[in-house]
Amino acid sequence: MPNLDVSLPKWVFLQLLESCNLRCRMCYEWGENGPYREYKVLNQLSIDVIRDIIATCKPAQPYYELYGGEPLLHPQIGEILQAIHEAGSKVHFPTNGTLLEKHAEMLIQYPPERIWISLDGPEEINDAQRGKGVFKKAIRGINKLLSLREQAGSAYPQIGISTVVTPANHRHLERFFFESIDISKLDCISIELQAYITEENHQQYSGILRKEFGVQEAPLSKGFVCDPAIFSDMDAGLIEKQVQRLAEFCEKNNKYMNTYPQMMSEDNIRKYFSADWHSMTHIKKRCPFPWISTEINARGDVTSCHAYYDLTLGNVNDESIAAIWRGEKYKQYRRYLRKHLLPICQGCCLFYNEKP
Ligand code: SF4
Ligand code: SF4
Repeated sequence: MPNLDVSLPKWVFLQLLESCNLRCRMCYEWGENGPYREYKVLNQLSIDVIRDIIATCKPAQPYYELYGGEPLLHPQIGEILQAIHEAGSKVHFPTNGTLLEKHAEMLIQYPPERIWISLDGPEEINDAQRGKGVFKKAIRGINKLLSLREQAGSAYPQIGISTVVTPANHRHLERFFFESIDISKLDCISIELQAYITEENHQQYSGILRKEFGVQEAPLSKGFVCDPAIFSDMDAGLIEKQVQRLAEFCEKNNKYMNTYPQMMSEDNIRKYFSADWHSMTHIKKRCPFPWISTEINARGDVTSCHAYYDLTLGNVNDESIAAIWRGEKYKQYRRYLRKHLLPICQGCCLFYNEKP
C-alpha cells in the first residue's frame, strides 16, 4: 500500500439526500429492487453538517462528489456549491438532468468542475427506463447550461453524459451518441456497465459484516442484487465495437472518455455480465479507497464504500468527520481491507476507477 497521508480524506462523497423525482427501473435505490421504496421517512444532510464537513476537510482540499437521490433536489444545493467553491475544492456530480434548466444560472455562478447527466440512450430507450419526458427535459437543461456558459465565457461546468449499459440499451449506444444528441457540444462521456452483485455475493458480504464487524443485516446492498441471467442476451462484441468507435471519436476530438470497467474488450464485457469478474483483466487486487476517500450518506452515516451503506464507521451528527476518519472503526476496516477485497467490490465503480 502506498505511503499516504491519512490525516484527512482526499476525496469526499456526500449523499445529499435520499429523495429522487424519478423511479428509474435499474436504480439500486429507487428501482425495482431498490430499498428506498420502503422508506417512511427520507433523509437529507443538513446545510450545517455539510458546512462542518467542508470546513474540517479544507486543509486536504479534497475533491467532492455529490450524490442522491437527485442532488439538485437538495433545497440548499446553491449554498453547498458555493461553500465548496469558497473552500477551494473541486466538485463533480451526476444528475438525472430534469432540474438543470431550473438551476442553470446558479450552476454558472458556482460552477462545479464537471456535471454528469445520466442518459441511457435515444429518447424512447431512455424514457422507457427513466420515465416519459425525461430525455427532452435533460436535453433542454444541457442546452441552457451550454448557452449560459458560453455567455459567461467560462469553460465550467464541463458537461458530460454518463450512460449505464443495460440489456435495454446496449444495441443503441452509437445511435444515441452520434444521432440522438449533439456529441460535439459535450466535454466528456462515460460508459459504465450496469453495476450489480449476485445473491451469493450479497450473502457472503452479509456474513463478513456479521462475523468481522458485528453488523447483523445488509438491506441496502441488497438493492444491487440481480440474476446474471438477465444479461444473457447481451452482445458483448457489439458493445466493444460501439465503445471503440466512441473512444476513437473522443480521442480525435479531444474529449475525455471514462469507461468502467476500464478495459472494454469483448472478453471482459462477457465475463462481467456472467459474474465471472475474477477472470477479467485490469481489475484491482486491493482497494486503496478506504485510505483516500470517505462517503457520508443522507443519514450522516460514514462509510468507506461508495453506495454500500450497510457498514457504517461513525455518524457526522455525533462526531466530526476527522474523528471518524481517524477512529478505531475505520482502522479496523482498513486492517481488513489491507488483506482482502469484499464480495461486493465487483459491483462498485471504485473497483474499476482510479480517480474522480
Ligand atoms: S435518477 Fe438516479 S437516483 Fe433517481 S431513480 Fe434514477 S438512477 Fe435512481
Ligand atoms: S472497491 Fe470494494 S473496498 Fe473499494 S470502495 Fe468499492 S466496495 Fe469498497
